[in-house]
Amino acid sequence: MSISQAIEKIEARYAHQPEFIQAVKEVAITIAPLYDSHPEYDAFKVFERLVEPDRVMGFRINWENDKGVVQVNRGWRVQFSNALGPYKGGIRFHPTVNQSVLKFLGFEQIFKNALTGLPMGGAKGGSDFDPKGKSDNEIRRFCYAFMRELHPYINKDTDVPAGDIGVSGREISYMFAMYKNLTREYGGVLTGKGVGFGGSLMRTEATGYGAVYFLENMLTAQNERIDGKRVLVSGAGNVSLHAAEKAHMLGGVVVTVSDSQGTLYDGAGLNQEKINWLKAQKAKSQPLADYVAVYGGEWFAGQKPWHIKGDIAIPSATQNEVNEEDAKLMVENGIKYVVEGANMPLTADAIDHIRLHRVHYAPGKAANAGGVAVSGLEMSQNSVRQYKTFEEIDARLKVIMKNIHDGAAEASEKYHQTDKGYIDYMTGANIVGFKRVADALVAYGILN
Ligand code: NDP
Repeated sequence: MSISQAIEKIEARYAHQPEFIQAVKEVAITIAPLYDSHPEYDAFKVFERLVEPDRVMGFRINWENDKGVVQVNRGWRVQFSNALGPYKGGIRFHPTVNQSVLKFLGFEQIFKNALTGLPMGGAKGGSDFDPKGKSDNEIRRFCYAFMRELHPYINKDTDVPAGDIGVSGREISYMFAMYKNLTREYGGVLTGKGVGFGGSLMRTEATGYGAVYFLENMLTAQNERIDGKRVLVSGAGNVSLHAAEKAHMLGGVVVTVSDSQGTLYDGAGLNQEKINWLKAQKAKSQPLADYVAVYGGEWFAGQKPWHIKGDIAIPSATQNEVNEEDAKLMVENGIKYVVEGANMPLTADAIDHIRLHRVHYAPGKAANAGGVAVSGLEMSQNSVRQYKTFEEIDARLKVIMKNIHDGAAEASEKYHQTDKGYIDYMTGANIVGFKRVADALVAYGILN
């Protein structure tokens, strides 16, 4: 079965899962030249196998709110592929979570994890639980209840979840506690644990810092530097604020962050004090807009950052946050580099538009792989029960991001034939990630 036939099958079978189809198509269109030059992939039906998860577990989560009223949520774990290592991928708590979203994230995760060069398969999980407005006690009860349902499916050697939107250190600690309680096992079953009880230094910063390290490599490839460049960041969560922090540390002028309520613009650029203030404000779930009264700048209620002039965009909030209209604004406003901190923040039309205008574009599976890479390092530290310093992890992260960059650039040179001189990171990253997984599947025969 050819790739296009496999896509038709997926479109018919999963018409109700648009995000998943979008993610599959994005990979499919770029890997064709590799696939065609490897007849064994077709013989072993590698693509057709990879677009179907190994398994999807769904479960109900009953918990009680502060008023003693029983609440019912849904949860899932999508174990996509363990061809290269234990299933690995985050847990998301957000009202928009459904099977389509988790399957797109799990599918992406297979190739992202492969790109890190570390032994990790791909998975994703989560719940439609909305943490907004919940008390700490409610969050704790929900996390306990979620892990009560999830724990039979995970283990340090089979499936190792981490955080994602709505799940950070606090939630991981609660879930880890419940896992330990149920299994009596103190192991590396979750990553993103607190430093001091199994967590790795730098895990919190890793995704955002890694995205900026990837950006540095892209700039170097064009003989440019980040100093003085205006950077637009969207989102104000873990990835966004750490991307903003590292961009500032390296001399970039970060002029925006945003959230679901609007965009904050500070033409003078964020500094460490302002970033610390933003971190504290978001940790308390307080409005971003309050910043203006403290530090000045402007609040654009209900707007995204892309109407603002800049050189570099780092969309780091959520999937499909940048549509074609936004992409046009980016091009008009001078953006030359788009680095995806979030997973699939650009729609397919938006990607086409910026690529057409030769904007340098780093897809999430390459640019935001730093988070899962340090999760992989957390797993190995847990296994040997020894911990590395911040500097050691940081140095390792830089090397991993450079390797991902260089591998994608090399594959682009080899396989991207239409526009020589333009580094097609999307094609390059998909090819490198896909090839690693496909070669393993062929070696395994028809199991897996
Ligand atoms: P957080 O929950 O820490 O932050 C998410 C941010 O995005 C918040 O500012 C939130 O605003 C905003 N946001 C979420 N949904 C929407 C929406 N529908 N519209 C507008 N804004 C929205 O999540 P993370 O920073 O961890 O994750 C952000 C992205 O990065 C996701 O795509 C995630 O999958 C990806 N990612 C995360 C990794 C990690 O290590 N954490 C690793 C690799 C990728 P508000 O507070 O108002 O809801």
